[in-house]
Amino acid sequence: MKATTAARPEPICGMNTWMPVPARILRVREENFNTRTFTLQFTDEAIRQMYGFLPGQFNMLYVPGVGEAAISISSDSEQHEHLDHTIRIVGSVTRAVAKLPPDSIVGLRGPFGTAWPLKEMEGKDIVIVAGGIGIAPLRPSIYWILNHRSLYKRVVLLYGCRTPEDRVFADELEQWDRDGSIQVLVTVDNATGDWSGPVGVVTNLMRRVKVNADRTVVLVCGPKILNRVAAWNFLQLHVPADHVYVSLERNMNCGFGRCGHCQLGPKFICKDGPVFNFAEIADIFTKEEM
Ligand SMILES: Cc1cc2nc3c(=O)[nH]c(=O)nc-3n(C[C@H](O)[C@H](O)[C@H](O)COP(=O)(O)OP(=O)(O)OC[C@H]3O[C@@H](n4cnc5c(N)ncnc54)[C@H](O)[C@@H]3O)c2cc1C
Repeated sequence: MKATTAARPEPICGMNTWMPVPARILRVREENFNTRTFTLQFTDEAIRQMYGFLPGQFNMLYVPGVGEAAISISSDSEQHEHLDHTIRIVGSVTRAVAKLPPDSIVGLRGPFGTAWPLKEMEGKDIVIVAGGIGIAPLRPSIYWILNHRSLYKRVVLLYGCRTPEDRVFADELEQWDRDGSIQVLVTVDNATGDWSGPVGVVTNLMRRVKVNADRTVVLVCGPKILNRVAAWNFLQLHVPADHVYVSLERNMNCGFGRCGHCQLGPKFICKDGPVFNFAEIADIFTKEEM
């Protein structure tokens, strides 16, 4: 199974793929102490209609006068009026965007990269494993599954973060669990407040899930250590490597395979990824320094 399933939409850019297109910040929602979801809308109506993305893809987000960062699209890919970027504030670009009030203009280039294998997942059990902000690129795939629920069998989301207050999309996690369309299990490293749920690393939650190895597809996104451990654990349960997908991160510059910043062994994360079939990258994953 390849990570790219449907034809990838052409990136919407200016005169060339380096040119960001203006988008207005419509709303800002605080997810936790350092993470916010920005709802953006292209200022140009024609671009708004043309722009499409596949769950798992990302944009290069430009803050005028500061620079660009790769940010996954975290909204419903079937909603064309606006799109969400969920951003953890870590450095110059993310700090700058966090200071912008609604109605400010940022630039977007994209969408870039590969997508989650939604077509190949049809008729299968799906296990989604996310850590921290890693749930952002997975959220569009969850919307897709919910919008086309009959195409998929059992769907389980395993989510882990440091404390209950660190949860991203906390309301939705609770709502998805209540609705019962997908099973949601959340764990935290440290229980604070009135948390009575599981405590421990997210991979511990795997023990609570019955995995039918031959008909399960696994999607993973989180810190490097989670990606490795989760992928290996599913292989140990005899899920074939080409049914395990991970989304990887690396510093990026161009977003479309020209500059080499995000090279990982023979792969470019921006164009061969960020979503990889584990079978494609197992060799790279075994090398500590990569
Ligand atoms: C394909 C892809 C998708 C991504 N999607 C998202 C997303 O949806 N939301 C999001 O918030 N980020 C996402 N990122 C990560 C984001 O691009 C980086 O965090 C980026 O460096 C932020 O730019 P900056 O200028 O704010 O920080 P920089 O100035 O580049 O970094 C400042 C400091 O923060 C450290 N740093 C950078 N990234 C991280 C990190 N992830 N965790 C901890 N420390 C870090 C750096 O080592 C550096 O010391 C994605 C990255 C890739 C490659």
